[in-house]
Amino acid sequence: MSLFSAVQLAPRDPILGLNEQFAADTHPAKANLGVGVYFDDSGKLPLLQCVQAAEQALMSKQAPRGYLPIDGLAAYDSAVKALVFGAQAPAVQDGRVATVQTLGGTGALKIGADFLRQLTPSAKVLVSNPSWDNHKALFSRAGFEVAAYRYYDAARRGVDFEGMLADLNAAAAGDIVVLHACCHNPTGYDLSAAQWDQVIAAVKAKGLTAFLDMAYQGFGQGLAEDGAVIGKFAAAGLSFFVSTSFSKSFSLYGERVGALSVVCESKDEAARVLSQLKLTIRTNYSNPPTHGAAVVSAVLNTPEWRALWEKELGEMRTRIKAMRQALADGLKAAGVTQDMSFIVNQVGMFSYSGLSKEQMQRLRSEFGVYGTDSGRLCVAALNSRNIDHVCQAIAAVMK
Ligand code: PMP
Repeated sequence: MSLFSAVQLAPRDPILGLNEQFAADTHPAKANLGVGVYFDDSGKLPLLQCVQAAEQALMSKQAPRGYLPIDGLAAYDSAVKALVFGAQAPAVQDGRVATVQTLGGTGALKIGADFLRQLTPSAKVLVSNPSWDNHKALFSRAGFEVAAYRYYDAARRGVDFEGMLADLNAAAAGDIVVLHACCHNPTGYDLSAAQWDQVIAAVKAKGLTAFLDMAYQGFGQGLAEDGAVIGKFAAAGLSFFVSTSFSKSFSLYGERVGALSVVCESKDEAARVLSQLKLTIRTNYSNPPTHGAAVVSAVLNTPEWRALWEKELGEMRTRIKAMRQALADGLKAAGVTQDMSFIVNQVGMFSYSGLSKEQMQRLRSEFGVYGTDSGRLCVAALNSRNIDHVCQAIAAVMK
């Protein structure tokens, strides 16, 4: 009997599994719309010019690679605060926000989850139905019971807002609610400003703890527009969590650049919270890596590069929108008679297409078009070369 004889084989990550299948596919017109990655019109992962400029400057300095502080690069943390909350926001000015550099958005969620688990172990965590799969997995693994609140309404092709609100109102005081700040993954349907006000009122009335996951700031309507919900939570006087990811907005997926911010009631409280976040980090991986945060911080803090970043981010956002329109138009041209205009109304990288598991499997096996079984397509991976094939393929499985 070995120590590991009873160890079960864990299921493969469904999306990474799709990637492997895609790599092995010999279809000449194959298209990978499975993974949540932005590709440019030539199908390549971009290396942003602002990143290249900052990297060149960093390399020419030949800086030694000492340990960073446990909470990361100070200039990075303050740039994140300014970006997420606004430099002049009262919470930032009052020193009520504790921000730490993390290993991507996932790292921010995990540090937040571990801290919350110490703080409030019996709270339930509510995630949207559906949500990014790792939300449930990560909070469960951190020891929480995870339940879902209603979100997607297939018949209406939008948000089941009454259902969502009813579920939040039925939650127990102290429960943690994970909310997508913008560009909901996987559905592409966001709440309106008025709906957010109602969510905030419910969170406040029921004494819930909001955890806003912002993995796509700038990919929806714009940096300020996408971040507006954070200002609303702060203005409501709530204590809440925000996870930030720069994986998509800087195209720095592999550098693992993210941040966790916790808005507190006072400066003293924020200092105590920060000390606990640091303890959580210290006992997990001691301190974060230097390169990605140095690049992001240089770009955010240098006006010329910052302007370049905003331009490049705007171009990615505009291209995604153009691809949404091209997909909706192309499906019509390919003979789809159903109203597919919802594709244009969705925001962010993804489109919940409404296609069934069987249709998604046919897309893969017959046409080499890869999306998830849930019907999610990454519109940020469409381009002028693959769009026609994708439209023909979808039209064929919808017949
Ligand atoms: N939250 C959501 C909703 C996401 O879609 C993702 C990335 N797919 C993340 C968090 C994690 O981002 P990162 O890759 O920076 O860890």
